[in-house]
Amino acid sequence: MTEPSIFTRILDGEIPAEILGETERVFALRDIAPQAPVHLLVVPKSAEYRNVAELAAGDPSLLAEMVAFAKELAAEYTEDGDYRLVFNSGENAGQTIFHVHAHVLGGGLTEKSVGA
Ligand code: 5GP
Repeated sequence: MTEPSIFTRILDGEIPAEILGETERVFALRDIAPQAPVHLLVVPKSAEYRNVAELAAGDPSLLAEMVAFAKELAAEYTEDGDYRLVFNSGENAGQTIFHVHAHVLGGGLTEKSVGA
C-alpha cells in the first residue's frame, strides 16, 4: 500500500492546517509556502486521482466542482476576485504531491509566482 498523501494526512488531522472551507468532496487550505499574496490549494478529499488529466478523464464533475470552488475562494480571499488556477502535472513540472490539487494564486502576483 502506498503512504497516504500529505493532503489525506491533513484531512485526517495528522498534520495541522487551517481548512478554509469544504464541500462533501473537496476542501481548501492555504499553501504552506505561498508563491503569491493569496495562495490557496483546492483538493479533492479522495486521493484517487494523481493529476488533473486523470481527474478530468475519471470524474469531470469533480474537476468542475474544484474549479467552481476555486472561483468562490478567489472572490472571498483576493481583493479583485482575479486568480490563476494551476495544476502542476509531473515531477519535472514541479508537482511534489501526487494527490491532484489546484493552486489558486491571486492578490497581485509576486515575481516568484510568475517565474521571473
Ligand atoms: P505541487 O508542488 O505538488 O504542485 O504542490 C504542493 C503544494 O503543497 C506546494 O505548493 C507546497 O508548498 C504545499 N504543501 C506541502 N506540504 C504542505 C503542508 O504540510 N501544508 C500545506 N498547507 N501546504 C503544503
